Amino acid sequence: MTATKPAALAALQPQRVLDRCAALAQLTEMDGGLTRVFLSSEQREANRLVLGWMEEAGMRARVDAIGNCVGRYEGEAPGLPCLMLGSHLDTVRDAGRFDGMLGVVGAIECVAALHATGTRLPFALEVVGFGDEEGVRFGATLIGSRAVAGTLDPALLDRADAAGITLRDALAGFGLDPAAIASAARAPDAVLAYAELHIEQGPVLESAGLPVGVVTAINGGNRFQVEVTGMAGHAGTVPMGLRRDALTAAAECALAVERVAAAQAEVVGTVGRIAAHPGAMNVIPGRVTFSLDVRAPTDEKRLAAIDAMRAQFAAIAARRCVDLSLAPLWEAKTAPCAAGMQRQIAAAIHDEGVRVHHLPSGAGHDGMALVDLAPIGMLFVRCAGGISHNPAEAVTLADVATGVRVLLRFVLAFTAPVHS
Ligand SMILES: [Zn+2]
Repeated sequence: MTATKPAALAALQPQRVLDRCAALAQLTEMDGGLTRVFLSSEQREANRLVLGWMEEAGMRARVDAIGNCVGRYEGEAPGLPCLMLGSHLDTVRDAGRFDGMLGVVGAIECVAALHATGTRLPFALEVVGFGDEEGVRFGATLIGSRAVAGTLDPALLDRADAAGITLRDALAGFGLDPAAIASAARAPDAVLAYAELHIEQGPVLESAGLPVGVVTAINGGNRFQVEVTGMAGHAGTVPMGLRRDALTAAAECALAVERVAAAQAEVVGTVGRIAAHPGAMNVIPGRVTFSLDVRAPTDEKRLAAIDAMRAQFAAIAARRCVDLSLAPLWEAKTAPCAAGMQRQIAAAIHDEGVRVHHLPSGAGHDGMALVDLAPIGMLFVRCAGGISHNPAEAVTLADVATGVRVLLRFVLAFTAPVHS
């Protein structure tokens, strides 16, 4: 294998990776932008392209029971357990062209390089293009990767999209059998590990001046709806000292979120949505609702930050004579990247001559589901300005070249079992 390593690296064509991301970006439901949702006709076209690229790269390619593209490149003997690579092919609304797609196309490029140089490994490789990660259509994220991990809740089949089409009907419309989704699940002994290349979607690598980085964990998160109830009143007649203004109380809470999060490294807290009722220029807001989103790379840090925020909210509410309640909307545990995967990805970065930098992922990824199936690892590629979920999302050819070279070095040197 050592002899073929430089040959396989030299066979990589990073420009082709960018060209294929551009081709996928054409498959969109919106004029002048990119939106491609789960089980849409655009996804059907994207799958067709991706399956073709997989076959061209020497893989046996198929669409699984939930609509994911799965390509398999056999190892030194047929039927060996696989190292799974991949990312997602769906997008948010008005998306960039690299979030997800870069990981799928980059993984295919690595297999193409192995195929072109006749390189076989002591394990199989599989590349998966997940059909749903973003959760845009059915309001539930990670449907594709949960199905592969065997953790998809069958009750989701009855979940409807904005047009009233259920997941069950959408699967049937896509030519899939909703009764067969369990067959998308993989046996744990068939998957050695899962590794994903993804754009960072944040500014950390750019500010460190580095093209790639090793992900330590996919941050867990909590979301709450917070409701503050004070007393509505006439904006002209109620003196300042006699007000129970729900909006100014909520504003203090937002500042408390910022203060608590900033005090703890790698904790982030955001109030992204706020609504004042009744919402008139001449009425003191009597009721305010706002969202709270808290994330951190360990569950311990996240829960401690939430406790601190709750305590500050209670103090603010008491001082201002308003009522405050927190309703949990969503919770995800931290998905730690296996220590052995971090070590192997770091070694590949080092071998590429790049300084190794570790960072957590503030965004969610397919690994959050796959961690229930196999050890996970992630490699981040720098993106311009840290901008993502935005048409301005951009990467450079040089960074993509470094990213796929590091991914291929990791694949070539990969050893299992991975100790987490
Ligand atoms: Zn993504």
